[in-house]
Amino acid sequence: MLEISSITLDNEMDLPLTHKRAAIIGQQLGLSLSTQTTFATAVSEVCRVVLERTLENLLSFYLEDNSDRWFLIATIRTAKTALNKHAEEFKYAHRLVPILEVRHQDGHTFIDLKLGLPRTVQLTKLKVNKLIQYMQNSITITPYEEIKQKNQELINLAGEREEQLRLSNILNAKKSEFLSIASHELRTPLTVIKAYAQVAKTLKDPNRLVEYLDKIDQQASKVNVLIQQLMDLSKIENDKVDYRMERVDFNKFLSDVVTSAELSNPNHHISLELAHPVHPSMDRLRIEQVLVNLIGNAAKYSASGKNITVKVDVSIPHLLTVSVADQGVGISKKDLSKVFEKFFRADGVTKNVAGLGMGLYITTRIIKEHNGKIWAESTEGQGSTFYFSLPTN
Ligand code: ADP
Repeated sequence: MLEISSITLDNEMDLPLTHKRAAIIGQQLGLSLSTQTTFATAVSEVCRVVLERTLENLLSFYLEDNSDRWFLIATIRTAKTALNKHAEEFKYAHRLVPILEVRHQDGHTFIDLKLGLPRTVQLTKLKVNKLIQYMQNSITITPYEEIKQKNQELINLAGEREEQLRLSNILNAKKSEFLSIASHELRTPLTVIKAYAQVAKTLKDPNRLVEYLDKIDQQASKVNVLIQQLMDLSKIENDKVDYRMERVDFNKFLSDVVTSAELSNPNHHISLELAHPVHPSMDRLRIEQVLVNLIGNAAKYSASGKNITVKVDVSIPHLLTVSVADQGVGISKKDLSKVFEKFFRADGVTKNVAGLGMGLYITTRIIKEHNGKIWAESTEGQGSTFYFSLPTN
């Protein structure tokens, strides 16, 4: 359905306007004078009925290509009413147009008046677009129309401003929340490092010292990852990431990444399933960062000892798809679409697992900038699979 024009219906002064607009569309479509008038009368009659009940209505005109013929449709959206197509109030309009339908949807009632256009009216997409342009640019004729149009523009502007304000308030709230989480997340490993360092100073046994130094090393890596993510985020937001694209032997690359991921996630077994060799053009370090993040999350959000499976699929020509599957806590349906948003963390995990909700956002940006796609499937309590695909040609 292609929308040609719409008018808000605020009071009965709009009725002549609806009649005129319907007639102009009929005329532009090349309908006979009597068809133009009948259709326009039916439209303004239904508008009169709804205006008697409520003052906030919308009339929109559409063209619909029903494969063998085109239909001109006038849809009047009004507050939800008990009106139906057999209502006494619509009897007159019903006599004038062949199809009058009433739908109730999303808290509104929609009344559709449909007129099949004669086959002699040859419409193409180009002609329809011209008509849309004509309706948009057609000069306002009466002062009332002009005021109404200006009023509508002001209402739209106010709506846009309100929306901008709402979004900026949400962003501000998210930023302060993020700053408090970030300082907490950074402080936690630092406190642990300090504690281990103090104990290590008193240790005489070199083996125990190495054990403590290992723990300090692990915590320092956590701080490093967080700082790296913060730096990446600011680079990404300012479009300052330079990608060094090169042809990469993907199987070899993935095997190396998985081997080192096994070392940094010693409590999980990672199995790898490779496919036919492919050589995509990619930034080696950035795609490694994507994999480290996905495998790291798979380990973080599943219990020790659970398996992680990394798989490559090249069955679709010119495309490689990597999946990272875990047997972890899973993600609820409502959260699944949000996990790729900046700073998002599912409620259930925030207390138990460290993180800033930046990893998947950064990952998504990297994949998109490689012209790839990223998505996830998950069942709560059973596990999640994250996928990304990259072009290989
Ligand atoms: P972080 O892990 O630092 O919170 P991410 O951006 O990597 O940030 O992930 C965002 C959120 O998505 C996580 O907080 C978590 O709620 C959810 N999530 C990501 N990966 C997984 C996974 N493998 N299993 C379950 N939940 C996940």
